[in-house]
Amino acid sequence: MKYLQILQDVLLPVVTACIMSVFFISAASCALQKSTSDKAHHTRTGFTNPDLIENPSFFKFLRWQWQRLWKNIPSADIYTFPLASNDPEFLRSNRLQKTLTWIGHATMLIQIDGVNILTDPHFSERSSPVQWAGPTRLVPPGIAFEDLPPIHIVFISHDHYDSLDRQSILKLYHRQNGKNTRFFVPLGMKKWFENLGVLTSIEMDWWDEYQMDALKIIATPMQHWGKRSAFSRNEHLWASWVVISKDFRFYFGGDTGYSRHFAETGKRYGPFDLALLPIGAYEPRWFMKNHHINPEEAVQAHKDLNSKKSVAMHWGTFILTDEPLDEPPRRLKEAMKNEGLSEKEFLVLQHGETIILE
Ligand code: ZN
Repeated sequence: MKYLQILQDVLLPVVTACIMSVFFISAASCALQKSTSDKAHHTRTGFTNPDLIENPSFFKFLRWQWQRLWKNIPSADIYTFPLASNDPEFLRSNRLQKTLTWIGHATMLIQIDGVNILTDPHFSERSSPVQWAGPTRLVPPGIAFEDLPPIHIVFISHDHYDSLDRQSILKLYHRQNGKNTRFFVPLGMKKWFENLGVLTSIEMDWWDEYQMDALKIIATPMQHWGKRSAFSRNEHLWASWVVISKDFRFYFGGDTGYSRHFAETGKRYGPFDLALLPIGAYEPRWFMKNHHINPEEAVQAHKDLNSKKSVAMHWGTFILTDEPLDEPPRRLKEAMKNEGLSEKEFLVLQHGETIILE
């Protein structure tokens, strides 16, 4: 038992740290370079956040991992998140009602006038380049993959492993009618999809617009970064997404730090009927703040966007950072109270819960 405890307390964090270092290593050598494009978020080798002077360093990552070893991070088995029941048969046949279902983490199913949309689809056991190590899913997907309705649109926010899951993309593309699924991806990512054999991706830069039948789709900024391998950083852009139909405006916030992009997007395309906003993965602030909003910032983002209703995501599914996994909804509730928001304005759903949108 003692050896098992040592394995759990020491070796697992070290293995996890090694895997995560794949994302961070080489960051220090990736200096900002001037781009041939005149867009502030373009660089010669990829992309950058126009409002940040970034100084990524592998030593900062190591410092975080070192501190984690001595912190009392609650283990996964203390959490129980109930799985709400939903009605996959209704979701498969529904063409009229607007619905939203939280599948887990940043994966949401949105139905708008018969068009079925998935955000950052992740149905795998781990958020990791390998399926034998790395953060494990603590709650099964709120809708089993096999029960999904046909998916017409997939939005990808960025290339980190908790958002861009290779297995889920391949399964979506190769299921019946999957080749009709269009994958909207940030600039630079089309090649990654083609290398997988997925030929229906549409890559877009910030503020690009695309008309798909009755829907207008816009790639909008967020403040984040990209890393898919040890030898690259920021080679694919990161983006939030806006969908506008004749009577509905929807925003998917991806994974982001707080910046003026919320207010700018709200000004250009708001007010929104629905915004999906991340509320988890924010501690320690000295390391996470630039790229992950906390619940208080999520409330501010909701206001900046001019959103009538927001729904929380990017929490409660994988342990990625240091805050207790069940803390974000508590802090969100407090922040909403402080800012005078009603309970209906910013919802926290159970995994698997479906809501009908007015
Ligand atoms: Zn990320």
